[in-house]
Amino acid sequence: MIDLHSHSIFSDGELIPSELARRAMVEGYRAIAITDHGDQSNIDFIIPRLVKVCQKLTDAYAIQVIPGIEITHVPPEYIFELALEARKHGAKIVVVHGETIVEPVISGTNMAALQSSIDILAHPGLITEEESLLAAENSIYLEITTRKGHSLTNGHVARVARRTKAPLILNNDSHSPRDLVNKEMARKIALGAGLTEEETGIMFHNSELLLKKASEK
Ligand SMILES: [Zn+2]
Ligand SMILES: [Zn+2]
Repeated sequence: MIDLHSHSIFSDGELIPSELARRAMVEGYRAIAITDHGDQSNIDFIIPRLVKVCQKLTDAYAIQVIPGIEITHVPPEYIFELALEARKHGAKIVVVHGETIVEPVISGTNMAALQSSIDILAHPGLITEEESLLAAENSIYLEITTRKGHSLTNGHVARVARRTKAPLILNNDSHSPRDLVNKEMARKIALGAGLTEEETGIMFHNSELLLKKASEK
């Protein structure tokens, strides 16, 4: 299992990175990206610290731990520059907190994210076909999430992505150890979103592709 979207105490997660990585390892994960919520106030603080600990954990354990960021509730006009800044600080996975229907994420966030140098648009809610086409064009992964609330629109995301050939990725968006679902449950959630077994396999493979790309950076 690979999860490229998770949270530590550097935002609203329950665990420090070392425990998160160890718990994920024990659950059989091969890789996890720690992508705490970031805006202009904190990315220069969070990312270098994650870079440091992720390297130590990857060296010590049989799990790859990747430093990242989830740009969250940032006004759309600043997303482009903040994504570039996050990369400069060392984020290897850049996620944007998309327009989930369970939070008042401002409209225009999905569009701004898909025009920026990011890897994953998380929980994109009622994403439009136009936005999804842009995801396909810019090779940005749209997220199918196992997280409660955000997962309410998984079926919609799966359908629009299929129509527009946008790549999908499955993440847990874990904030606590109980959110680290195993691959079998992840598979069931994907099937529940209306994906076929084949599409689910491709989606899991996309995690490998993005992990490889992130490790090469
Ligand atoms: Zn989010
Ligand atoms: Zn998140």
